[in-house]
Amino acid sequence: MKRYALISVSDKNGIVDFAKKLENLGFEIVSSGGTFKVLKDAGLNPVKVSDITGFPEILDGRVKTLHPKIHGGILVDMRKESHREELKKHGINNFEIVCVNLYPFKETVKKTDDVDEIIENIDIGGPTLLRASAKNFYSVAVVVDPDDYSKVVEEIEKNGEVSLDTRKKLALKALSHTASYDIAISSFFNRMLENKFPERLFLEYNLENTLRYGENPHQQAAFYSEPDFRNDELPALKKLQGKELSYNNLMDSDAAIEMVREFDEPACVIVKHANPCGIGRDNESLKIAFERAHSTDPMSAFGGIIALNREVDGELASLITKNFVEVVIAPSFTKEARGIFSKKKNLRLIQLPINSEKYPYFNIKRVRGGILLQDADTIEEDRSNWNVVTEAKPDEETFKALEFAWKVVKHVKSNAIVFCKENETLGIGAGQMSRVDSVKIAVMKANKDLNGSVLASDAFFPFRDSIDEAAKIGVKAVIQPGGSIRDKEVIEAANEHGIAMVFTGIRHFRH
Ligand code: 5GP
Repeated sequence: MKRYALISVSDKNGIVDFAKKLENLGFEIVSSGGTFKVLKDAGLNPVKVSDITGFPEILDGRVKTLHPKIHGGILVDMRKESHREELKKHGINNFEIVCVNLYPFKETVKKTDDVDEIIENIDIGGPTLLRASAKNFYSVAVVVDPDDYSKVVEEIEKNGEVSLDTRKKLALKALSHTASYDIAISSFFNRMLENKFPERLFLEYNLENTLRYGENPHQQAAFYSEPDFRNDELPALKKLQGKELSYNNLMDSDAAIEMVREFDEPACVIVKHANPCGIGRDNESLKIAFERAHSTDPMSAFGGIIALNREVDGELASLITKNFVEVVIAPSFTKEARGIFSKKKNLRLIQLPINSEKYPYFNIKRVRGGILLQDADTIEEDRSNWNVVTEAKPDEETFKALEFAWKVVKHVKSNAIVFCKENETLGIGAGQMSRVDSVKIAVMKANKDLNGSVLASDAFFPFRDSIDEAAKIGVKAVIQPGGSIRDKEVIEAANEHGIAMVFTGIRHFRH
């Protein structure tokens, strides 16, 4: 009895070798036009789909394999005598193997804006072949991934056929492939129609690794990557040394990277539980930036996640490793630094590009019964839109400190209060339910003299009490969005204390 394999592939890599092996194993290869030509030119003996169907490929290849003589041979359930009889009656041969990969739709979307070209790359017959074959896994082995060619050949060589278990796995792969393909197509249509929040949202994520556990040891967890994100920017994949990255490591690393990305000049961020416990910068020295970040709150920095935006050298590596650190992230490390870090076996070292380039993305949060989606908080802010609302006016140096404080406060959980000097954080109050308590905590946490510092608040002050508190330690200027019904009272408090105050008009809650 003759055995049949249908091959219709867009990506022709490895196909000649695969087809040759199938031919040697006694299969007759049936192929669509382009694939037929490649196999024929390589000296194989394929049969054209059009010779089976007795119908040419039409409409520039939009209709090639869509024919009962092909789909009958794929969808026949060989366990059923009635099906086998019916095939015989119509002179149709059953396919044991169907090997298909699809028109490069995703690649085309990436490389062109030509809608006609993109639409032409929506494969019609291919997904039909894949879905039909996957549905009929009892009778067909469907191969969508060139990485599976050798496994399929090996199983036939060894056992005469592809095992049922493998056929089920191949079917799942084919169905995931068509699902992913359809998500890409519907996403393209949503973009074309400028639907920012589509009526139906399909998200695709790919499993990268399962994690030891989640936020706590009794919670299971895994990391899934976005298909379009550049792999070289994924912390989960860029570890140079150290223990496995935990769920909390990944959360905190993400927070640290987002913070350090804010700065063009050498900067260092130390994160604990997604909040910064110190941020420092310097116009020249990364080492000084680190020292500034670390000196904000050395006690809390213990076991922290450190992100830096310049190469780390040996001297800095020695300084960092003086204390217990969970993770160090930087765009590069000198050989000497690598040597020093390698002595700390558990310390996780992550190397990835840290750039300040903004990219559009959504934040996703699961809530009961659904998800909340929002733009990431990456608004461009322009100092020329800020208003000084007090009698006292900040001088240029104070303005620099306010700008720095404003960049930092955005990354602190609400209610967020930070005390800063021009190049370093001095005290950080995070995650309190009342603003004045965040002020008190920031004062309490401060390690250095706060006299002459500036204060940033992620949202408006509901009462004057926070300003009165800040005045006690000698704050010289405050930056906040403004917008409270008691703004007048708050401004009056600032005027009474001789504090300068800037309204940005933009709020930065973070939960
Ligand atoms: P070939 O290069 O062999 O001519 O075409 C291979 C490609 O055609 C594969 O990517 C396959 O998914 C796709 N294909 C197979 N049958 C059909 C069909 O009937 N219509 C369309 N539009 N594409 C098909």
